This record gives sequence, C-alpha cells and structure tokens, in this order.
Amino acid sequence: MCSSLSISTFSSCSYSNHRLLSPFFYPFCRFRKPIAVSSSEGEAVSILLSTTTSFTSSVFLFTQRHLLLKRMKSYTTAATAFNQSLISQLQNHGVLSSSTVAEVMTTVDRGLFVPRGNPPYMDTPVPIGYNATISAPHMHAMCLELLKDHLQPGMRALDIGSGTGYLTACFAMMVGSQGRVVGVEHIPELVTSSIVNIKKSAAMELLAAGTLSMHVSDGRLGWPEEAPYDAIHVGAAAPEIPQALINQLKPGGRLVIPVGKFSQELQVIDKMLDGSVSIRSETSVRYVPLTGREAQLN
Ligand code: SAH
Repeated sequence: MCSSLSISTFSSCSYSNHRLLSPFFYPFCRFRKPIAVSSSEGEAVSILLSTTTSFTSSVFLFTQRHLLLKRMKSYTTAATAFNQSLISQLQNHGVLSSSTVAEVMTTVDRGLFVPRGNPPYMDTPVPIGYNATISAPHMHAMCLELLKDHLQPGMRALDIGSGTGYLTACFAMMVGSQGRVVGVEHIPELVTSSIVNIKKSAAMELLAAGTLSMHVSDGRLGWPEEAPYDAIHVGAAAPEIPQALINQLKPGGRLVIPVGKFSQELQVIDKMLDGSVSIRSETSVRYVPLTGREAQLN
C-alpha cells in the first residue's frame, strides 16, 4: 500500500512535465510522501487525505495551467501584432516592397531571435554579445529584397555571419524543403543559441529535416561543401570581397556583402552566365567587421 501510494505520488507529480508548473507541484510531492508511510489506521486517513489532496492539486494544476496558457496565448498574440506592425512600417517606408519578403518576415518572428530585455520590434540593431549585433529590421528587409529572386523554392543559399540565425531562417522559409540553406558563424556560442532560436521559429522543421544547417567556421572561406549557391549573404563588413565567395557563387547567382572599414558600402555582386561578375553599390551601411574570432572578441 505504502509503496503503491509512493508510486502514485511520484507518477502524479511527474505527470505534468511542464517546466513552468513544477515549482507549484513540489510542495504536494513533499507533503504526500510522509503520509504514505504512516500506521494502518493512519493509512486510511492518508488515502482520504491523499485523494483530497490529489483532487485539490488537480484543480490547482488545472487553474495554473489554464492561466499560463492564457498568458502565453496573449503574449503570442501581442508578439504577432508587434511584428506585423514592424512589417507595416517597413512597407510604409518603402524598404519592403514585395509580398514574398513581407510574408517571410511576418512568418519568422524577430522576437524569437532578439535576446531577452531588448526591444525586438524596433527598427534598430540589438547587441547579441561577443561584440556582435542582430541587424536592424530595415537591413534584413533590404537584403531579402535584393536576394529574393535568388531565394526561389529549391534554390541554395549561404548566410555568412549568421549571428542569431534570423536571416538564415528567413532564407530557409523562402527556398523551402526542396532548397538548401547553410549558416556559417565563427562564434560557437552564437551558433548554439541560433539553433535554439530557429527551433522555436517557423523554420524548425527545415532545420530538423537538414534543409537548413548551422556551422561554426570562418566565413571568409565560405562553405565549399554545399557550393555553388544561388544566393550568398554576408552579415559583417569585409575589407574587400573574399574571392572564395565569388568562386562559390553559381553563374546567375548573387552575393550581397558590406565592404569597407570605416566607410562601408553594401555591394551587390552578380555572377553572369559566362562567369564574369558585375559589382554595384546599393547604399552606405555600418556593420560589425568580418574578421578573425580573436580580433572580434578583443
Ligand atoms: N545576420 C546576423 C548578423 C550578426 S552580426 C543577424 O542579424 O543576426 C555579424 C556576425 O558576423 C557576428 O555574429 C559575427 O560573430 C560574425 N562574423 C564576423 N566575422 C566572421 C567570420 N570571419 N566568420 C564567420 N562569422 C563572422
């Protein structure tokens, strides 16, 4: 009897594996166990108490779960509304012009990628640690617009300096399950947290399926294993365009990269079908440098 009570006590406690609820459960676990080892007369009382406690805890549990779900639902609804309002602002300012890019930026919630305690839905870059930032939404929008024709379903894309994984996730949503997207970042902790972020986002299934993969590596070398790419994006400013990235571009493909040290330009490099390249400058920008890991951390 005692052991069966103990087992039932344990199993009812482990029934709710919701991490947020476990602190509420804990007092019941501690209260019920000593009752289960009392005398036979006490056992009758303990069963009664146990049943009562079990009923009370079930009601308590139900209420807590209901309140938590309600809070989570209203948070999600608010986040969706804020993200949507950010997208509308970018459309009003003309940064976002295509419905494809608006749709992907609506689907991939920026709030899941911005570290807690920072404003996720303001048009500003946000520090993510390791002397890096998640780019401002208008820069994400601009790069997606510049690359959208090279991110058609089934195409291949490379995101260098993937940071939080936001843009990599957007790329994956655009090329879909028949495409391939590789994210490369040289800070291992950022790669780990980007995977956590992506797993919470709309791109989680593409990550699980291997359509999207994230790697720790020096992005200046590109990622030759999956080359050639239709689209390459670099999220950090290079002193000059790395030849390895041009080599890994498909004929007909496009590379978008900030170039320069103090004064930087967002450059758009198109590889023609005959292998020649055309380079143009889109706008002046300010990015963190594409550099060695030690140089960045110091
Ligand atoms: N697109 C990312 C931008 C992050 S900031 C986002 O919006 O979240 C630029 C990133 O480039 C940083 O995370 C930085 O660590 C990374 N980086 C800088 N030099 C690099 C290199 N040589 N190889 C790979 N990543 C690099």
